Amino acid sequence: MLDAFGRNIHYLRISVTDLCNYRCRYCMGEDGVAKCAHADVMPFEEIAAIAAAAARLGVDKIRLTGGEPLVRRGIVSLCRMLRQVPGVRELTMTTNGSLLPQFADGLKAAGVDRLNISLDTLDAERFRRITRGGNLEDVLRGIEAAARAGFTQTKLNVVLLDGFNADEIPAFAALTKEKPLSVRFIERMPIGDAAGWEPERYLAADAVLRAVPELEPIGTDGVARLYRVPGYSGTVGLIPPMSRKFCAACDRVRLTADGKLKPCLHSATEIPLRGLTGDALETALRDAIWAKPASHTMDAAHPSDAVRNMFEIGG
Ligand code: SAM
Ligand code: SF4
Repeated sequence: MLDAFGRNIHYLRISVTDLCNYRCRYCMGEDGVAKCAHADVMPFEEIAAIAAAAARLGVDKIRLTGGEPLVRRGIVSLCRMLRQVPGVRELTMTTNGSLLPQFADGLKAAGVDRLNISLDTLDAERFRRITRGGNLEDVLRGIEAAARAGFTQTKLNVVLLDGFNADEIPAFAALTKEKPLSVRFIERMPIGDAAGWEPERYLAADAVLRAVPELEPIGTDGVARLYRVPGYSGTVGLIPPMSRKFCAACDRVRLTADGKLKPCLHSATEIPLRGLTGDALETALRDAIWAKPASHTMDAAHPSDAVRNMFEIGG
């Protein structure tokens, strides 16, 4: 459906859990995730009912995220349920990839269409540092498992961090030479408990174009500006929420694991949906979409107004 600014809102991102097996420094504070009460986490039936109501209002694309979606018990059956919601044309997932060796086949069989896998460095020691203990090998095996399971058009999400992975931009771009991967560089956003983590690490996405001058623009994909090195099979995407706000092109709303609809990632506004059914649920969704602000106010000096962490919203 159209929002108050004429944007077509057709994309719902659902966070299925706050929990995560990593502790990425730009995403969560040192203490990690406070486990929320089991009763606060929406059961699958409620998630599917909200997805169905959203689909009746025009949502045709759903992405599962978290926390780490693959740590939610029974995640494959949730995928199966969501794939059967009338009107949903595309079901995707954003994952840190570490559990894909175990889950890739099941996700494919359940009808998940595509995967975004987050990976900020190709160096094992750096990986351990940024995730506070993660094992790079697990993610690399996860990427292979996804390909073996038949996933194509996989996207690799890289959060740009100055003095951490800026020197790896050419290596990430080189991954697109043989493989039809899309490597997408995302600007780090100051949000939640990790907002104050080493602010000097923010790096504007244009740094990618300076590091790989051969890149040529080839269009856009949602909020990403796409580039390709001539002759390469894959693409490089830039996602610049800080340096080039793309709110005018925003087409999404977000659902938290405890059942709050967030019209904007960076607004404090949350509409509780739990307990609503039928017309009441559709009306709440419609009001939430209508309440979507024109744009966020975040920049390097002003952290996000969201009253949550990224791992509670799902990015
Ligand atoms: N755990 C999964 C993962 O890491 O892919 C899904 C949830 S995670 C919150 C979703 C995406 O948000 C990841 O690509 C992650 O790198 C990104 N992200 C987390 N915190 C961020 C921040 N402060 N700025 C920009 N991207 C961030
Ligand atoms: Fe976990 Fe993803 Fe946040 Fe990293 S970015 S801590 S993997 S939720």
